[in-house]
Amino acid sequence: MKRRCFFHNSHHTKLLTEIIHIAGMDKHKIEWSICNQCCLIFQSNSLSRSSLNLYYKKNITHFNDKDKPSEDKIYNTNRQLNIIKDNLKKFPNSVLEVSLLNDYNLKKYKLCGARKVEGLEPNKIISEAINKKKVFKVHNSTIENFRFKKKYDLIVISHVLEHLMNPLNVLKKCNKSQINGQHVLLEVPLFEALNRYKNGALMMEHLSYFNEYNFLKLILESGYEPIYISKIYERTLMPFITVLAKKSSNKFLSNFSELNKISFKNQYKEAKKYIKKNKSIWKKIDQKLSKFDKKRKTYIYGSGLHASLLFKYTNIEQKFNIVGFLDSSKSKNNTKFKNYLIRNPNINNISRKSNIIIASISSEKTIYNSLKSFRKKGINTYCLYS
Ligand SMILES: [Zn+2]
Repeated sequence: MKRRCFFHNSHHTKLLTEIIHIAGMDKHKIEWSICNQCCLIFQSNSLSRSSLNLYYKKNITHFNDKDKPSEDKIYNTNRQLNIIKDNLKKFPNSVLEVSLLNDYNLKKYKLCGARKVEGLEPNKIISEAINKKKVFKVHNSTIENFRFKKKYDLIVISHVLEHLMNPLNVLKKCNKSQINGQHVLLEVPLFEALNRYKNGALMMEHLSYFNEYNFLKLILESGYEPIYISKIYERTLMPFITVLAKKSSNKFLSNFSELNKISFKNQYKEAKKYIKKNKSIWKKIDQKLSKFDKKRKTYIYGSGLHASLLFKYTNIEQKFNIVGFLDSSKSKNNTKFKNYLIRNPNINNISRKSNIIIASISSEKTIYNSLKSFRKKGINTYCLYS
C-alpha cells in the first residue's frame, strides 16, 4: 500500500524499490523513500496492514517457558532497567510493556519494585500462555487497538514503533492516557552511522527508520519531554536509540526546525551510500558462491527477506541445483518460496550428498552451529558472511 510520511503527508524522494518473495504469500513491491521535510526514511510502498498481520502470525515464534533468554535479551533488559533506575527517583509503581513475546521483562519490573505489571501482546497464543500462569495480566491486543483503562506510571515501547503505520498517533494516545510526570521508555533501531549496519538494514517489517532528529521530533510532538537519551553503536545487533521521556505540558519544539535542512542532506547522502555498499556486498557474496560445490543438490536455509534478496542480487539459481528450502519456523513448513518447497530442517528430510547454504544474517552463526550433525553425515554447510 502507498504511504506518506506520518509527520507531513508531503513530498518524498525515492531511495530503493524491491520486489520481494515472502514464504507462503504473494510477491510484494516494497519501496523506501525519504521525506523531503523531516528526513524520515520510511516505506512509501509497504505490505498492507492485513498482509503484515498475516506475516507476523506466521513468523513469530511462540512462547516457550523452557527457552532460556538469550545473552542479548538479558543484556538489553538489564540496560533498560538501569536507565529507569538511574533516572527516576523511585521505580514506577505501575508498568505496561507493549509487545512482549514472553514474560521475562515483566518479572524483572516486579523484582525492581513495580506493584502493577501488565503487558500488551498481539499474539493470542503467547498472551494466553502468560495469562494462564495468573501472575501478570496480559491484554491480547495491538497498541493501535488498545483502549487504555489505567494511567500507567511507565509505558515501555521497545522495538515496536518502527513497525507501526502511524507511531505518532500511537504515542499521542499513550500520552492522552497518562498524567503529567508519568513516563515512557522508547527504543528503536537508530538509522545513523549506517556503515555499522550489516547487509539488509532496510527490512520488510520496519516501516520507519529514525535518526535522532526525527525520533525526538516524534516524542516531542506526542507531548513528551525527553529526560534521558542514549545511542549505542556497537554492543547491540545494530545501532539503537533509547529515550526515557515524561509527559509534560511544556512546549519544546521551537528550536527544532533549524536542524531540519542539514539533517535531510546528511540522511539522504548516508542512505544512498548504504544502498551502494549493499550492492557491493552482494557482489562479493556472488563471488563466494562460485567457490561452493556446484555438483551437489542444494538446500537454502532461511526463507525470509534475506533469501529473497539473495535470489535477486546473485546468480544462485543459475549456479546451483536448488531442490528446496529449510526453515525452522513450523508455520512455514510445506509452504512455498517461489516454486521451492520449504521443509523442516530434519536430517531425514534431506539427501546426504547435498549442500546447505545459510541465508540469514543475524542467525547465521546459530544456524551453522545447529547443523553439526548434518556435517557429520557428509553434508556441506556454507555461510555467506563468516
Ligand atoms: Zn516528514
